[in-house]
Amino acid sequence: MTEPLSRADGPAICRVTLRFYEELNDLLRPDQRKKDIVCEFPGKRSVKDAMESFGVPHTEVDLILVNGVSEGFGYLLKDGDRVSIYPAFERFDLEGITKVRETPLRTPRFVADVHLGKLARNLRLLGFDIDYRNSRDDSELAAIAADEKRILLTRDRRLLMRKTVDRGILLHQEDPFKQTLEVLDRLDLWDALAPFSRCLACGGPLAEAFHGSDAFAKAEPSIPPRVRSWCREYSICRQCGKVYWKGSHYDRLDALVQRFRASAP
Ligand SMILES: [Zn+2]
Repeated sequence: MTEPLSRADGPAICRVTLRFYEELNDLLRPDQRKKDIVCEFPGKRSVKDAMESFGVPHTEVDLILVNGVSEGFGYLLKDGDRVSIYPAFERFDLEGITKVRETPLRTPRFVADVHLGKLARNLRLLGFDIDYRNSRDDSELAAIAADEKRILLTRDRRLLMRKTVDRGILLHQEDPFKQTLEVLDRLDLWDALAPFSRCLACGGPLAEAFHGSDAFAKAEPSIPPRVRSWCREYSICRQCGKVYWKGSHYDRLDALVQRFRASAP
């Protein structure tokens, strides 16, 4: 099967063979899946451009082999090249092969697309640093991801094709609970959970504030008297000042945390 990447109008035509592996096939047209794709184009083209022309964002790719040798996204394709493209999953042995980027950061930081409010809240509940606002355009999201080295979470593959976005996760699930599992599985974050350590409203870190402390005195006006009468321990967001205590709301959230823990592989 031959897929012209662009109209041939120059003298030097490059003919290369691409093959996508594992989950990357889900992103291709049905007739392109799990087979060699031969494409022709004039002049020079990077491997990143070539694979993204098939709808596969570079953030989904962890390893590129050109004629059996590991190469980066910027590799310029040459006539006759055979390119194998592997996803960001470690379901096959990568030992001894250089991947296109380093292993994920130990404690990753995220920025979420505007429609992922519930996912952002879940990840904050589990203690992850996630920047989320419901009003941001694509270029703002891409800039935050690049400037602050955050992993961009989105369901929009075009957003992940932007050059400045180095790290991202294309979410396949629609349900926020399943999306959360998708992120935890993908980056293997199950040992990094720190529930109730971040503010659900702004994502800032929480600090403990005991009854009678200075921090408590500052927060006291925002605590209802009926709560103050029984509760001695509070958490206060260092960023926005929101106060948390273990009321009935806590039990619901704790049940959600337990549901996540029970889903660990
Ligand atoms: Zn806060």
